[in-house]
Amino acid sequence: MYSLDVVGHQATRERLLLRLQEGRIRGSLLFTGPEGIGKRRVALELAQRELCFRRTACGQCEGCRMFQGEDLPFELPNLLRITPEGKAGVIRIDQIREGLDSNNQPRFSRGVIEWAALAPPMACHRWILVEEAHRLNESSGNILLKTLEEPPPGTHFILVTHRPEALLQTIRSRCERIPFAPLAPREAWTVALRNGWQEADHERWSALGEGSLRFLDEVAFRRAEAQVEAWLALLAGRPFTEWAAPLLPEKEAVLAQGEQLRQPLELLLRLLADLARIRAGEAPALAPWREALAPLATPQRDLKAPQAAVLEALRHLPRNLSPEPLLREVALTLVS
Ligand SMILES: [Zn+2]
Repeated sequence: MYSLDVVGHQATRERLLLRLQEGRIRGSLLFTGPEGIGKRRVALELAQRELCFRRTACGQCEGCRMFQGEDLPFELPNLLRITPEGKAGVIRIDQIREGLDSNNQPRFSRGVIEWAALAPPMACHRWILVEEAHRLNESSGNILLKTLEEPPPGTHFILVTHRPEALLQTIRSRCERIPFAPLAPREAWTVALRNGWQEADHERWSALGEGSLRFLDEVAFRRAEAQVEAWLALLAGRPFTEWAAPLLPEKEAVLAQGEQLRQPLELLLRLLADLARIRAGEAPALAPWREALAPLATPQRDLKAPQAAVLEALRHLPRNLSPEPLLREVALTLVS
């Protein structure tokens, strides 16, 4: 899914553009903020603007058209896009060093460091966009380090991530951090409407997305909804075997099994926080599920044990190979 227009982030975009025009932008930037709020799109806009015939990222001209469509190219005259590949979903060293794809075929005309050192096309910079930068592994991260520290003149790295804590500390310290805030609910829903969403889903879509566009895809949204329902059932003491299905990883998915547990576990943390809010007389953040949550917020319920279990499980996700026992263990803490 690839949206054409940039939504929101007005102040950040204006500031970046101004600094670029005045030559006050660092060689390596780290865009951080929640998943699915358009950080990558803002990075692309900087490159698109330079190839745009009107220099505005108008979205209409031949230059802009190169940045559009379902399959955005990995290499453009002023841009390289590096994304995680293969079953493990990591950014590998040969992607960086030789510019290969997961089948060892050339993806770029040359390796990334070499590409970065070429003279930029006229009136352009060279942009190297590292998407989901937390998926750089130690060796690919280390090979980037030297170049990140001092990219050749006119070359800019933009690392985009919603999990900066998972990046090598040495990489973080070499980049200037540009934080992004979630979109306003109204901004996010405007995009949803443009993508065919209906008013009937408005409240739940906005509550689950928290100012992001990560549930623009209907399958992803329905799955998150089913996960909330599953946790509510488990919180109400229903049997794990009957209700856990939507929480378990899909065998066919590209995302590694352990990583697929991140979303349901984070949803449970949000539900537990809402139970604490209700108990304190406040409104729950997941307001559309208020009625199901209220009877579960009894004073006897222990919220600390499940919170601790979820946090512990999240810490071990990158290495976790058996999702079901891990979920079962978390679910056990819900019925104390
Ligand atoms: Zn244009």
